[in-house]
Amino acid sequence: MTTGSYEKILKQIKHKKNKVVRFKKHNIPKKRKQGIGARKCSRCGRYGAHIRKYDLNVCRQCFREIAHELGFRKKGHEV
Ligand SMILES: [Zn+2]
Repeated sequence: MTTGSYEKILKQIKHKKNKVVRFKKHNIPKKRKQGIGARKCSRCGRYGAHIRKYDLNVCRQCFREIAHELGFRKKGHEV
């Protein structure tokens, strides 16, 4: 189970109140202060390959898609 998917289980057990209480007590992943798990892509929620430079806070895949709109240009690819 990844940290992003624990909410799916809550949807499955929402009608069993005691189970929800126990699940929240024992199974919700703790908030990370540092490391890969602390930073999430603001666009898709991915954890890996995170770009923090210029306060972008997106993963490399999202950066590739939105870079042109943000004003980034590839060197030697003038359009
Ligand atoms: Zn992303």
